[in-house]
Amino acid sequence: MLLFTPGPTPVPQNVRNAMSDETMHHRTPEFEAIFKKTRKHLFNLFKTDEVVMIASSGTGAMEAAVINLCKNRLLTVNSGKFGERFGKIATAHGLKNKEIKNEWDTPVSIEAVVEALKEDSEIDAIAVQVSESAGGLRHPVEELAKAVKEINPAIMVIADGITAVGVEAIDVTNIDCLIAGSQKALMLPPGMAILGLSNAAVKSIGSGVGYYLNLASEIKKQRQNTTAYTAATTLTIGLLEVLESIEADGGVEKLYRDTATRANAVKSSLEAIGLHIYPLTPAKSMTTVDDENAGEIRELLKSDFDVNVAGGQDHLKGKIFRINQMGLISNYEMAWVVNAIELSLAKLGRRPYDGTANRIFNEITFAVEK
Ligand SMILES: *Cc1c(COP(=O)(O)O)cnc(C)c1O
Repeated sequence: MLLFTPGPTPVPQNVRNAMSDETMHHRTPEFEAIFKKTRKHLFNLFKTDEVVMIASSGTGAMEAAVINLCKNRLLTVNSGKFGERFGKIATAHGLKNKEIKNEWDTPVSIEAVVEALKEDSEIDAIAVQVSESAGGLRHPVEELAKAVKEINPAIMVIADGITAVGVEAIDVTNIDCLIAGSQKALMLPPGMAILGLSNAAVKSIGSGVGYYLNLASEIKKQRQNTTAYTAATTLTIGLLEVLESIEADGGVEKLYRDTATRANAVKSSLEAIGLHIYPLTPAKSMTTVDDENAGEIRELLKSDFDVNVAGGQDHLKGKIFRINQMGLISNYEMAWVVNAIELSLAKLGRRPYDGTANRIFNEITFAVEK
């Protein structure tokens, strides 16, 4: 079965091999050398002033960012489940929250953010997804961050890049905290999250908040190539292998180009067979289709064509399906996915099969003339 869900994503064979060795002790020069190399690659990926790896799923890093960077009121952007989660985290910690809520296909408007900040001087941090995975939506995070800093540079900008870091170049000029998670674009099993931090964020963190998720404790240790508590050693070894594979395959710039081409090829091939793309501003991490037969298409993909794509959650359950585009994906696998979707439409009696999706995908991916 081809795993084409936008998290977890498949772990490449060489990465699984790298993680299959005996468990290494974390307080050893061997592990510290691996940690140091991994950190160096992460600086290149994140382009932030500091990076911190923690042993938790992505939500742990969201929580660490909120409690360490917000002291008063958090402005959150809810265009989906993950944006909503930032508000819930703030509330759970007794922080005040203001939410800008939209339908899941709609990106946040910069004007709404500016208005909220002007209305409420208690807001000292804003949290937003770069790619909101609930609907496959790209928020205009860079423009938003710039607008926030123009109003008040002390407001901390937290960007959840769990389905964006490793997918596309993100301009971190005005971003204070950028979050990634192991099981999405980084092609690893779940269990590690990474935070990229600006110097301003490190300063604002000071002595930190919380205990396990206290970022000050981690920054101090990780600058010495170790961790405050037991490191996720196996995942760190896997992460180094992933980052070295990306380098060996032409570097992150090539990965971003390939992902952008793939995103365009998938979107165009599905539109060519009459399908509708759900988000108004699609993220490159996944293609989301809204369709009255979304549930049936997903079932047929699994039962007849060995393809596993994700459905929707909450009010979008049975109404959308989401196809992963993150990671080092073979073109022949992706060509099969779009072809299988066209075959499913034929099975449902929606459209006679003529190979259009596969043709468009290949024409764009391999830039061949008709
Ligand atoms: C998956 C995801 C998360 C949550 O990560 P977990 O690893 O499930 O805790 C947060 N934000 C976005 C955008 C995601 O895609």
